[in-house]
Amino acid sequence: MQSFEDFAGQSAHIAQLHSDFASRAFVHAYLFAGPKGTGKKSVARLCAMAALCRGEGKRPCGVCGPCRRVLAGTHPDVHTVEPEKGKQLIGVDVLRGVIEEVSVRAFEDGVKALIFPEAERMTAQSQNCLLKTLEEPPEDTVFFLITDQPAALLPTIVSRCRTVRFHPLDLPQAAARLTALGLAPEEARRRARMAEGCVGQALAIDEAAMALREQLTRDVFSVRRPADVLAAVNPYKDAKEQKTQILDVLECAVRDIMMAQAGRMTLEDAGYAPQAEAYARAVPLSGGLRLSAAVTRARQMVASNVSFAAAFESILLNLTEEYTQWPW
Ligand SMILES: [Zn+2]
Repeated sequence: MQSFEDFAGQSAHIAQLHSDFASRAFVHAYLFAGPKGTGKKSVARLCAMAALCRGEGKRPCGVCGPCRRVLAGTHPDVHTVEPEKGKQLIGVDVLRGVIEEVSVRAFEDGVKALIFPEAERMTAQSQNCLLKTLEEPPEDTVFFLITDQPAALLPTIVSRCRTVRFHPLDLPQAAARLTALGLAPEEARRRARMAEGCVGQALAIDEAAMALREQLTRDVFSVRRPADVLAAVNPYKDAKEQKTQILDVLECAVRDIMMAQAGRMTLEDAGYAPQAEAYARAVPLSGGLRLSAAVTRARQMVASNVSFAAAFESILLNLTEEYTQWPW
């Protein structure tokens, strides 16, 4: 079972939250803000568990009935508020339904928790409905609004919540945490890098994404002359579904490469092909900036319905020009 201590590095307020919830001295609404994968949802669940726990000693105990039900996701007083299946946004009907339920239901363990894992998905109407509820909150109910986009929430909602900021871990801390969760040290370092210290994201990285990062940087930074371009584009030319992911990976790679060119970090353990490291050593930052601009232009091309193959080709042609000046 996860504990509050596991998240101590993610926010300055973890210990405070722990003691507030274990002693049931919490406020009625929290805004957990921070990048994806920084523990916001896990901490919200721990808070609910601490408040509901019937253990005698340290709370949450993890073994009493309420704790077990929260862990299993079956506690009737812990509600996760999400869009209906197949929908992107949380409609006002969904919200009204849950609020009605917590207002009338006789509660089992004295506290009801509403967790909004992506609070920014509430429609304007839903936010207004929630605002009314927060103005006169039902008794013994706690709202956890979780988001990586706090600006998407009404300022009047934000002002009624206690804001707790969550942060990524620094890379050695993130790698240590991933190792503690059972990853091999090298894998942990690579994933910590790829997810920029967001442990939850690091755990969610799949093998295919890792492989794409290596393969794509190998293919891209192996291009030296215009004659190489077509062969390099070929494996990706039909990547319609994947095109956003490919551009994301490239953008992330170019950003890391520029950091390496600027001497701010190394590309070791970052999951890139050796060709990318060679490029970063040979080409100065000005080249990285031009490459970055080429990736941005390619994104715009794709957005305006130019074929992905043509957009990708334009990035590679930029590289061939660079190669004539700074062979790597
Ligand atoms: Zn318990």
